[in-house]
Amino acid sequence: MGYYPIRYVGFAHDEATYKSLEASLGWSDGYMVDRKDFQKEISPYFNPNLDTYSAACVTNNCWQATPGKVIDYIRHLACEKGGVLLEDCRLVEVQRTAKGFMALVYTHDKEFVEYHCEHFVNSLGYQAAKFAKQLGIETGLYPIKHQAFITGRLPMMGKDGECLDMLIDRRQYKGFSAVYGQQFKETGQIIGCASPGVDAAEAGKNLKFNAQNFLEICSEMFREWIPQLGAVSFQAFWAGYYTEPRYIIDPGHGLLVGLQGHGFMLGQYLAKMYVDRYMGRPVPDYADRLLLSGDGLCENAFK
Ligand SMILES: Cc1cc2nc3c(=O)[nH]c(=O)nc-3n(C[C@H](O)[C@H](O)[C@H](O)COP(=O)(O)OP(=O)(O)OC[C@H]3O[C@@H](n4cnc5c(N)ncnc54)[C@H](O)[C@@H]3O)c2cc1C
Repeated sequence: MGYYPIRYVGFAHDEATYKSLEASLGWSDGYMVDRKDFQKEISPYFNPNLDTYSAACVTNNCWQATPGKVIDYIRHLACEKGGVLLEDCRLVEVQRTAKGFMALVYTHDKEFVEYHCEHFVNSLGYQAAKFAKQLGIETGLYPIKHQAFITGRLPMMGKDGECLDMLIDRRQYKGFSAVYGQQFKETGQIIGCASPGVDAAEAGKNLKFNAQNFLEICSEMFREWIPQLGAVSFQAFWAGYYTEPRYIIDPGHGLLVGLQGHGFMLGQYLAKMYVDRYMGRPVPDYADRLLLSGDGLCENAFK
């Protein structure tokens, strides 16, 4: 289904980062690598002159996947179980009714169709807050712009001729709080992102363009890691919203929202938790914290 094992490589640029990376080995399988071993452990192409980091933490048993394939597979499972998939439709409005909910949908054929149901799951990403409001629910969610890039196809650049693992720099640097990227095993393309240093500055920002400082920091960082990448052209840039600031997994309010920057990784598990609670099956203790009335789980719980 397009899942591949890879490793995460977190660079230590100062003492505090070193300590927190080392502490992460208490709950994940990995090891610390000294700067002198970067070429052996990360990539034979890694810049031998780079002295920004003293060490790196390599975490095993991570994975990458192709989102399109995964989503297609999940749709296929849903249809097999009797679900109906409507493409190119727009939810216009949702209302409570005596028996449940009415969702008004504008279809591909340019028709307005009313769907009536007992249970309505709002998993509308950054649009979720708008439709929750129509049902009288205040979520407190807001969208933060995040940008990404992808290069053309490249030869495998990682350890032992494999793809380049996920490299992560967590410095607060030139307006960003983290720069990270990895190489796709299937195509050899490098895909990377940079997280904004201050979320508020990117709240609701237009997705139609990529900022110059984003293009610059990605070029700078990847070229510093692997100088040969300076000659590689980007294939595409894009931007999307992280829905912040917290997960809300609450079937009582029909909410499966606020998946921030980890929704692809955790979405399937969170959806299972939603269904388990809805069906009255056991859920983990912390699931109560993910209810609308809960306090949420802080971002650091996932790092
Ligand atoms: C640049 C970037 C990089 C990311 N990288 C990662 C990563 O490496 N790993 C990871 O785990 N996560 C990553 N994420 C986060 C991940 O994409 C999200 O957490 C996840 O997509 C959220 O899932 P969702 O189902 O809540 O919302 P979405 O994926 O946004 O899905 C909501 C859907 O609802 C549809 N919708 C909204 N309103 C309407 C309407 N009125 N009518 C019809 N349809 C509607 C939207 O079109 C959309 O398809 C990244 C996000 C960005 C922006």
